[in-house]
Amino acid sequence: MSAFVIDAFEFARNKERREGEIATADLGRLADESADRSGTLRWTLVGGADHLGHSQLTLSVAGSMQLMCQRCLTSFAFEISSESVLVLAKNEESADEIDALLDNDEIDVIVGSKALNIAELVEDEALLALPLSPKHPVCPDQSALDALKNVKEVSPFAMLKNLK
Ligand SMILES: [Zn+2]
Repeated sequence: MSAFVIDAFEFARNKERREGEIATADLGRLADESADRSGTLRWTLVGGADHLGHSQLTLSVAGSMQLMCQRCLTSFAFEISSESVLVLAKNEESADEIDALLDNDEIDVIVGSKALNIAELVEDEALLALPLSPKHPVCPDQSALDALKNVKEVSPFAMLKNLK
């Protein structure tokens, strides 16, 4: 995984750009949210600075993964397309100061590192893009689902009657 580790401040200062792909299955926390661990995320990371001179990284993550619908318990494809600006701070204290200074919920301030793992950034970005309670907009085959519910509602006593 060393190919994913960068010196965040150098990367920003040199306005570097890197892109790649990572399998959902290789991202443990994300794979746990996935219905089948399939899929690949494409990511792009671009270094730069904001108008106040803070080092920053712009991260884009896109791809598709299978989520489990909480309503009908079948999987469906969810498209991830997310971009974040991550301003780099030298330490936690500085991060709080910059966060207060920028006063912008759209921008995340993170503590930069000489060994920042891009895979972790990509995973965090993807996790934040997932719905809290994944559901189909319209569940497929609702009638089959209703039939299933009706079966469950049959009482055990009715079942016993049928056995006699
Ligand atoms: Zn559903």
